[in-house]
Amino acid sequence: MSEVRIVVVGAGVIGLTTALTLARSRKHNYTITVLSKHMPGDYDIEYASPWAGANYLPVGTRGSLLQKLEQATWPELERIVKEVPEAGVHFQETIVYGRKKDEGTPTGEWFRELVREDAWWRDVVPNFRILPRSSLPPDCSTGTSFTSVCINTAIYLPWLLGQCLKHGVVFQRAILPSLSSARTLHHSGKPAHIIINCTGLGALTLADVKDTNVYPARGQIVLVRNAPGAMYTVSGTDDGADEATYVMQRAAGGGTILGGCLQAGSWESAPDPNLANRIMQRSVELCPALVPRTGKVTELSVVRHGVGLRPMRKGGPRVERERGVDGGWVVHQYGHGGYGYQSSWGSAWEAERLVEGILGEGERERAKL
Ligand code: FAD
Repeated sequence: MSEVRIVVVGAGVIGLTTALTLARSRKHNYTITVLSKHMPGDYDIEYASPWAGANYLPVGTRGSLLQKLEQATWPELERIVKEVPEAGVHFQETIVYGRKKDEGTPTGEWFRELVREDAWWRDVVPNFRILPRSSLPPDCSTGTSFTSVCINTAIYLPWLLGQCLKHGVVFQRAILPSLSSARTLHHSGKPAHIIINCTGLGALTLADVKDTNVYPARGQIVLVRNAPGAMYTVSGTDDGADEATYVMQRAAGGGTILGGCLQAGSWESAPDPNLANRIMQRSVELCPALVPRTGKVTELSVVRHGVGLRPMRKGGPRVERERGVDGGWVVHQYGHGGYGYQSSWGSAWEAERLVEGILGEGERERAKL
């Protein structure tokens, strides 16, 4: 098999999962360089992946690309829980409440599919059931429970990187002014055949991408040592239309993430202490098991406060190929918003399919000559 040189730009969950998928390919001999400003181990406002919870709570609308990617991703996350304990992913019992008054608000829209009792993913995840009305909190109109996963991103991202290394992927730090500048940066010294753009919010500033449909949605979290016993999510709060409440315990001693908010257009990297107090208060009210001794917020043991920017994109994730400004092939894969983990494997397989399509056409072109 002849060598196919790939440069993946970006080492978030999307870039790493894509690099690993291609590196494991038996159909083609990919040699892969990952170039990135940030790498696993970094905590930075320009790097969304470490800040995520991260769990699997589907939000893609029926028939959308996102739905397809989320649906494709679940079996692989389930397999990883069962067969790869060192990846830092575990099953969690999950409870989702919907409030009628959140319909049309930013968080209500975010969770529109999630709170449906006739959800498309009811047959995808195990143990889906509708909760009896009598068991719902006072202002909630829907409630479902199912088995989901929670990913300890501090373990999972380095695990992905380690798997890439095992399969020969080469990692280099770089800050690229444009996507096409990656063409000559393959570790072989020869030009890359295909560049894969996994830059998240970076797609807004790369000179030859400048996708103005991309924007941040700020998420603030509190990481605590307390254990909730299950994962909980409510579609909104009475504190603000862009605030919601969620509680999720990471695998392998990763602590519990309390969230959150969806502040569209905000680039603010500093945690807001008032918002942090509201998040903690709401979490304790939603899940008293967090504070069994006193029932009070003061019983929460805080590891850190954090802020991440979800790489949103009007119209949803962009997963498509095009000719770059230099005439070479580019595969775009960015704009995974608040759902990058839960769509990661589906997205990587879609990118692989696009790469194979490009190579297939190349072979047909050569055969014609
Ligand atoms: P990023 O992780 O941002 O990575 C982008 C990469 O591109 C970085 O390595 C960066 O350095 C690199 N880059 C960018 N520009 C350049 C350049 N010019 N030159 C070189 N390198 C460049 N998702 C879920 O599925 N489940 C959840 O529970 C969940 N919870 C979340 C909670 C919070 C608080 C936040 C903020 C996000 C959450 N998400 C969740 C969303 C998830 O984190 C993102 O969708 C995902 O991390 C996006 O990954 P990415 O690889 O596209 O982007």
